[in-house]
Amino acid sequence: MKKVVLLGAGYANMALLKSLPSNVWNENEYEFLLISNTPLHYFSVLLHEVASGVCEEEITLPLNAILPKNVKFIQDKVIRIEQNLIQAENDTYEYNILVVGLGFQSDNFGIVGIKEYADSIVNYQGALALKQKIVNALRDYAVKGDVESFKIAVCGAGFTGIEFIGSFVDELVQIRKELNIHQEKIKITCIEAMPNILPMFNPKLSSSAKTYLEEKNITFELGCKILECEKDGIIVEKNGQKEKIDASLIIWTAGVKGNQVMEDSTFFTTQRSKVEINAYLQPINQANQELMQNVFVIGDCAALKDPLTQRFYPPTAQMAMQQGEFLAKLLVQKLQGKNFSEEFSYKPKGTICSIGSQYAIGYVGKMNIKGKSALWLKRAIEANWKFKLAGLKAFSKTF
Ligand code: NAD
Repeated sequence: MKKVVLLGAGYANMALLKSLPSNVWNENEYEFLLISNTPLHYFSVLLHEVASGVCEEEITLPLNAILPKNVKFIQDKVIRIEQNLIQAENDTYEYNILVVGLGFQSDNFGIVGIKEYADSIVNYQGALALKQKIVNALRDYAVKGDVESFKIAVCGAGFTGIEFIGSFVDELVQIRKELNIHQEKIKITCIEAMPNILPMFNPKLSSSAKTYLEEKNITFELGCKILECEKDGIIVEKNGQKEKIDASLIIWTAGVKGNQVMEDSTFFTTQRSKVEINAYLQPINQANQELMQNVFVIGDCAALKDPLTQRFYPPTAQMAMQQGEFLAKLLVQKLQGKNFSEEFSYKPKGTICSIGSQYAIGYVGKMNIKGKSALWLKRAIEANWKFKLAGLKAFSKTF
């Protein structure tokens, strides 16, 4: 039997599987295989809430309960992709059609010390480990109280950095109470190279997010380029001068790239571990386009240009989902030996950044929104995705 192999169980591939028509399973001579390194689908846009301690398992769904029954799941870690072959930690797998949806990794842009001294928020296990590290460090500080204050530095004021700070600062109220640490004793500083936080929003919105967080004692160091990370702080350049910002705990949320597997696979041409794709979601490979006829790359490992601006779209869950849904149509045509009937075009619906449990900013179409209504909308979008994957049982405690 011929094989359709899907790598990764994130937004892109789950949207693809959930959008395939039911007759796809019995109408052709293909079997479907999904390879992923964890038996879970997790909502990566909510990883900051795991790291901050707001939630844990609520952002995961077990794959064996949500995959269509005709999809065989294999838990394995992909190491390299070759022509017609996947090299993984436990085995090798052949494919006739391949869909790569391996997601993102942290990008330290080669800055010295980030790998050694900073933690990032890029996968479920890592987010759980970071939460534990923060709690342990605060417990330790509560007992020893050996320094004037416990300093946490968050590097990067993009979505992940600000969403993490927003949810952590809310959570901290309870943690401080339990550990009996005075508010003044914990200092959180967010360091950002740009003059504004959340530079993707209009300045009024991002400034309201900044004020909201400043009222909760967050300090922003803007226009501060991170040059190096040390065990006890960060070296930055501000106004042409080098400075050190002290920190006992450093969280790196200043950028992501595609999966390292892409870079390690000479089969692809990559930049920042991403593969440029065409409007049929297939890798653009000038050297040998023929080899790419049966390969699709979707989600954060794919780099797609906006045809109007010729700039790459940023990697978002919304983009990954739209690509997955669209690929379901193309895949059906491919399995039936037909030509592709349409090209992918991204339709941005808006975006929302949550800032803790009471506030959010964002836009829907051309309308800017902020406050609780923005937050409720974000929660509704998250619930809708959960429902799409697992129906009502996704909301039951025993699931
Ligand atoms: P990001 O690229 O959005 O933000 C990183 C920030 O770090 C930027 O503001 C950048 O200016 C700053 N930065 C980079 N290098 C720096 C340096 N050397 N010194 C100081 N500052 C520096 O990264 P992210 O927040 O990890 O998000 C990654 C992608 O995932 C984005 O496309 C984002 O839109 C998406 N995302 C979306 C959501 C959501 O929709 N709720 C949540 C999380 C992530």
